[in-house]
Amino acid sequence: MTQTSITRSWVASANGHIDFPLQNLPLGVFSIDGGAPRSGVAIGDHIFDLEAALDAGLFEGTAKVAAEATRGGQLNAFFQAGPEARVALRERLLQLLSEGSTLHGKIEAQGAKLLPLAANCVMHLPAKISDYTDFYVGIEHAQNVGKLFRPDNPLLPNYKYVPIGYHGRASTIRPSGTDVRRPKGQTLPAGQTEPVFGPCARLDYELELGIWIGQGNEMGDSIAIGDAANHIAGFCLLNDWSARDIQAWEYQPLGPFLSKSFITSISPWVVTAEALEPFRRAQPARPQGDPQPLPYLLDPRDQAAGAFNIELEVLLLTEAMREQNLPAHRLTLSNTRHMYWTVAQMVAHHSVNGCQLQAGDLFGSGTLSGPESGQFGSLLEITEGGKKPIELASGEVRKFLEDGDEIILRARCNREGFASIGFGECRGKVLPAR
Ligand code: MN
Repeated sequence: MTQTSITRSWVASANGHIDFPLQNLPLGVFSIDGGAPRSGVAIGDHIFDLEAALDAGLFEGTAKVAAEATRGGQLNAFFQAGPEARVALRERLLQLLSEGSTLHGKIEAQGAKLLPLAANCVMHLPAKISDYTDFYVGIEHAQNVGKLFRPDNPLLPNYKYVPIGYHGRASTIRPSGTDVRRPKGQTLPAGQTEPVFGPCARLDYELELGIWIGQGNEMGDSIAIGDAANHIAGFCLLNDWSARDIQAWEYQPLGPFLSKSFITSISPWVVTAEALEPFRRAQPARPQGDPQPLPYLLDPRDQAAGAFNIELEVLLLTEAMREQNLPAHRLTLSNTRHMYWTVAQMVAHHSVNGCQLQAGDLFGSGTLSGPESGQFGSLLEITEGGKKPIELASGEVRKFLEDGDEIILRARCNREGFASIGFGECRGKVLPAR
């Protein structure tokens, strides 16, 4: 069943839905009325409850095995089950939820038991995350930030050979809607030689794509570049909240530490590779003079279709803007095409030394800025480290985030002749330091 052969759902709100039409069917974990977290699929303004659907006998065969793997309020076993299980579940969901489904009446008769309104549900993390790795593949961001520190030499010599990354902190990853407590730490005031301790004064966001790992590898084995896409379960939005003043003092020689680990926010829906299939594209050709990737990172199929055309957006809503009923201010409009390395290259590189990846591990892409103003994926770049404040319609100015500020990430895929799909939101509001 192709994307184009089925276009409409009998769930009316799905048709033309900004994020979740029938063609998307992202998976997530939700709860309702304080009940236990359970897995579901976003469809229009509703969530199709997979556990209730299993109990109602709506699945059989491979699709049933796949749906059973989503039980228990986390999707790790489903991620581990791999692409065949995921595709079987998707095919069955397309049957059940498309216009003309013979089971339309049976499902609708169960009302909110099978299809609760998403607005009545609380979203949770979709999986237990054992490990989180943040990459640095947004080359425009790497150049913009590099320029602030090294005007003549923005990119270090390893950048075009190594998909740069660092091990992040899995324990403080939270779903969209979780408040962001301003962190405290050591910073070095300008012109001083001794650090001071206190609340972060340069709090920032980072616009990133999140990558959910599916089937992992045994320790000592590697995932080949040609097989890497089979080890990715899906995608989300990721805000790598960053304390720039803490980061500037701590980052050498081993990289970010406490400046990143106080919280990382993600959008709760796992958008699958199948849903993103129409929005794949060739990895952009490397500029003249750039080295070819080493063979373990180079696969013709990955180069031909391993990148994505996903439009990424960041919005800011301050306390004053909320009080004055002003619309959110767009800070960033960017795209995943600014990734110098593909997601498959990230998986192949991460495991090439024998490091074990596990189902439910999460990767961040790194900040995905574009080259132009209006496309920068962090305030560090937009305000050039605080030198060029932003003016807002409320009359306020911002160099970095203030208490009460809310950052909203969104993503959308558009292509002529195909239904547009979105990722839902990744929101977080800054609370004062405690
Ligand atoms: Mn980051």
